Amino acid sequence: VAKEGYHSRIRVFEKGMYSRTNAEYRVLTDFSRALKQHEIVFYLQPQCRASSGKIVGAEALARWIKPDGTVIPPDTFIPVLEKRGLISDLDLYIWDDVCRWQHEWIKSGHTPLPVSVNVSVSDILHTDLPAIFENLIKKYELERNLLKIEITESSYITNTALVMETVRSLREKGFTVLMDDFGSGSSTLNMLKNLNIDVIKLDAQFLNMNESNEEKSIQILESVTNMTKTIGVPIIVEGVETKEQKDFLIDMGCRYIQGYYFYRPLPITDFEILIDDPDKIDTSGISFKANQQ
Ligand code: C2E
Ligand code: MG
Ligand code: MG
Ligand code: MG
Repeated sequence: VAKEGYHSRIRVFEKGMYSRTNAEYRVLTDFSRALKQHEIVFYLQPQCRASSGKIVGAEALARWIKPDGTVIPPDTFIPVLEKRGLISDLDLYIWDDVCRWQHEWIKSGHTPLPVSVNVSVSDILHTDLPAIFENLIKKYELERNLLKIEITESSYITNTALVMETVRSLREKGFTVLMDDFGSGSSTLNMLKNLNIDVIKLDAQFLNMNESNEEKSIQILESVTNMTKTIGVPIIVEGVETKEQKDFLIDMGCRYIQGYYFYRPLPITDFEILIDDPDKIDTSGISFKANQQ
């Protein structure tokens, strides 16, 4: 019996390995064609004021739309592109597309809302981010505050000096920088005192509570919230799915939420319909001081 179990485990393992390398291979062979044929698009997920649910901005999230209409989420191709040094091709494309959309949206007389884009650590290592964003806002005649930049916590940890320098330079140029997935990796807590950052996006993991860890989870969330108050940086909590979570976060003093409870990431046309309703948007932006109650 033991032997059979052993062999069946081996088979399962091999099958998993095969399909993984096979899938990676398909991503790599299809990707440049997909880019050229505009199969890579971005969805927009609203970021909301917790108390009113009104939209203060959005995050652009990459999607691969196959010719048959299947929507491929980024977790299946972004790690492969990162591993193979191709992520900047995707990111440059998405950033340009986001800015082009902003330009068209504003030109046709609609109310502008800030959109944040994601940055991979290899973008920081291999491209001149401040120059790229500077060129984009010139090319599309955008106000700087309409383009925000999300850099994940893990980037800060792996390349502290370079990332700090890049963030400093971006902020010096007037761009807003958000720290994404805060609390998901090794702690950046002791980095915060030297860090200049505009907004912290608290990782969804903070909301994973069960009976055995609930009390501690609440205390941790409370101290993180207090800490961000101390340093005067607003937080957006990611992954909020239920009314209970939303109400709880409001009690904790969190003012901004990005999560399925309010909205999922939406195709651009759906997002446009949504923000064309003046009752659904809040153009006062994300800030710490202006919203202290
Ligand atoms: P992220 O930047 O932290 O984006 C938030 C992710 O959380 C998104 O997943 C979003 O759909 C998901 N999310 C938001 N609210 C909820 C919720 O209430 N419940 C749950 N379960 N999930 C929620 P998505 O779109 O699959 O993106 C995954 C990650 O892929 C992103 O995490 C980001 O790290 C990366 N990514 C996406 N687009 C790009 C891109 O254009 N460039 C780069 N470099 N990375 C990207
Ligand atoms: Mg993000
Ligand atoms: Mg995140
Ligand atoms: Mg994430």
